[in-house]
Amino acid sequence: MSWIGAGIFIAVHGLACYAFPATASIISLAFLTSSALIASWATYRRARASGTPGWSLLAFAQLLWAGGMAANGLVYLALGYETGESIASMLLFILYGVPIIFATASPTREVSPVRLIDGLLALMLGLFFFAHTSVFATIAGASVEGAANLARMFDIENIFIALFALVRLMSCRDPGEREFFASLSIYAMLYMLTAAFINHTQEDTDFGGPVDLLIDLPFLFLALMASHWHQSQRSPTEVPLRLERVIQAVSPLMLPATLLAVSAGLIHIQPVWTMVGFAMATLVYGLRNILVHLSNLEERDRLERLSQIDALTGLPNRRSFDARLHEEWARACRNGGTLAVLMIDIDHFKLLNDGLGHQEGDDRLRDVAETLGRCARRASDMVARYGGEEFVAVLPGINAQQAMQLAEVMRSNVYALALPSPAPAARVTISVGVSWTDRPNEERYETLLSRADTALYEAKRGGRNAVVIAAMPARQTAVA
Ligand code: GH3
Ligand code: MG
Ligand code: MG
Repeated sequence: MSWIGAGIFIAVHGLACYAFPATASIISLAFLTSSALIASWATYRRARASGTPGWSLLAFAQLLWAGGMAANGLVYLALGYETGESIASMLLFILYGVPIIFATASPTREVSPVRLIDGLLALMLGLFFFAHTSVFATIAGASVEGAANLARMFDIENIFIALFALVRLMSCRDPGEREFFASLSIYAMLYMLTAAFINHTQEDTDFGGPVDLLIDLPFLFLALMASHWHQSQRSPTEVPLRLERVIQAVSPLMLPATLLAVSAGLIHIQPVWTMVGFAMATLVYGLRNILVHLSNLEERDRLERLSQIDALTGLPNRRSFDARLHEEWARACRNGGTLAVLMIDIDHFKLLNDGLGHQEGDDRLRDVAETLGRCARRASDMVARYGGEEFVAVLPGINAQQAMQLAEVMRSNVYALALPSPAPAARVTISVGVSWTDRPNEERYETLLSRADTALYEAKRGGRNAVVIAAMPARQTAVA
């Protein structure tokens, strides 16, 4: 669809009605159906090209509208009604808003049961709009008062759609989504103005007059935007974080609040519907909140687990190590237990990185981490990545000799891997500093760590690929 194509479409529409006044109604209905079909086709193609789900919902909405117009045409052909609209076409015109309201009010990031609930609310909203209109209009046409109410109902639906689209546009970062919500906002406003103009100013509801050409406009404009409008800037747009948060938090309320408002409007005509609408809006919104809350809790647990693990090696990270050391230290102080810490550092790792590349370095880090993790088998032991090419282990309830033995097992197991390295030993080796205490009440846990660090330094100075145990601090003597 091009600008020229759209112009020709409108011109042919006008000329055909003018040239064949006797069949102008049916000609116009065919053109109106086609303009919505063109919009549906263009938005469907955009959906396939962009992957933004809103476009396919918009394509579906256009199809419903085209169906409404086609139903008008069929009723006109079969029954010869000059005025008014069939119930079927009215239902389709109302339902046309449902996929659009769903696309604007339901955030795509939500899990599928929540999306399903939003879809249900949007559908109920459509049915309540229909309940409104069907009260005011019959197949034989609407009374003057009924027509005014009908026009008001369409206004409300169209205003909601345009407002929802604008609100979403304001909080959109993603360029693809921005294009969608910007196109939808423009289209929805054009549609709203056209519908309001026709519903409020045109007494005669028969088709075939020049005003029908106006109805083509929003659809053809939408088709043009769907086919041609791409933002030149593809990077995410800056949106104030607070605004984005507020809109994210408030938008789930849009659907139930609208449903409450529409149900309230039925109170004098169909009080039972009002009660059903109120109950559904409240209960379904409650259920939605429960589901969102559950998925948030799961997400929180997942993030908490992630925050404790080192992404490269899969070992606990320094934060979990610090927490565990605190815990074990406090336990050892309370129960008079023993505690050992191992500081483990890969030898000449910089040479390996420089010689074989960072990727190879990462692979060796994983190999060493896996070996160290396998050596410490007791549930109470923890081996963690301390940072860079350094690891650390906390070993509660063992004596100094056992700690030395475990450190030695780690050193020899890494050596036995025989991982090639440009280091002088021609393979990957580690040095280990061991510190141990059976008197946690007499020192601070930081000194246990720094003693292990000093022992590690000694192991490096002694030639690397070695285990060194730190000297115990002098025993404190009580002064009487
Ligand atoms: P030493 O035997 O004295 O420990 O020498 P070294 O070369 O191992 O020690 P140094 O501290 O000089 O170098 C450590 C290197 O570890 C430097 C840094 O590039 C590398 N490194 C730190 N973190 C990572 C990482 O996540 N991946 C890779 N591939 N390398 C890392
Ligand atoms: Mg090192
Ligand atoms: Mg180091």
